[in-house]
Amino acid sequence: MAFNDLDLSERLDLARRGTAYFAQRLADLPDGGLSGPSLLDGWTRAHLVAHVGYNAAALCRLLDWAATGVETPMYESAEQRAQEIAEGATLSPAAIRNLFEHTVARLDGSWRSLPDAAWNAEVRTAQGRTVPVSETAWIRSREVWIHAVDLGNGGRFGDFPTVVLESLLAEIVGMWRRKGEGGGLVLQVDGAASVAVDETAETRRVSGSLAGVVRWAAGRGAVGVTVAGADEGPPRWL
Ligand code: ZN
Repeated sequence: MAFNDLDLSERLDLARRGTAYFAQRLADLPDGGLSGPSLLDGWTRAHLVAHVGYNAAALCRLLDWAATGVETPMYESAEQRAQEIAEGATLSPAAIRNLFEHTVARLDGSWRSLPDAAWNAEVRTAQGRTVPVSETAWIRSREVWIHAVDLGNGGRFGDFPTVVLESLLAEIVGMWRRKGEGGGLVLQVDGAASVAVDETAETRRVSGSLAGVVRWAAGRGAVGVTVAGADEGPPRWL
């Protein structure tokens, strides 16, 4: 089962569940923990929470675009996006928590108020892909579930719904294939058929639970997986 085969209401529900999962990790974190490192290079947890908040605001711009037909990109530029996050990270802990809650509520409001006819309207993502605006459910799910782990205070891939894990794996492998990366790499999820990234001879194999293999493929470390062959980490995905 792939995320995008689900009904829209189920997809939005998975995004909301992921948001609640992120919100719980954030609630567990004392204010002093926000200045500590996230699992993402160079970002404190404050950067990460600001990013997740601004991501919701950026997705609202895509929903506005779909609703009005007036092109409003997620971000003006990569520089503007980075600057916004850097400035957001300097806010007080209370303001950062507020930013997160406020943008979550706005995104939910935009989803609830989008007219039925607008859900197939095409918009452009920050990566430059043209997609129906319903894709915002997946983009947001991916963000909140994975970044909940990146907070580094107890979030686990093993807590993700199976459909989210399976769709992440399909997306990551698809991205590697499009970029011509991951040659010779085979992924072996316990109990499932192995997946060769390309048709060249196998040079390494990563085996383990679905959660472990997805975690590894997403560049979040080799925990609960066995890597046979060159252990050079996964190719870049996003
Ligand atoms: Zn992100």
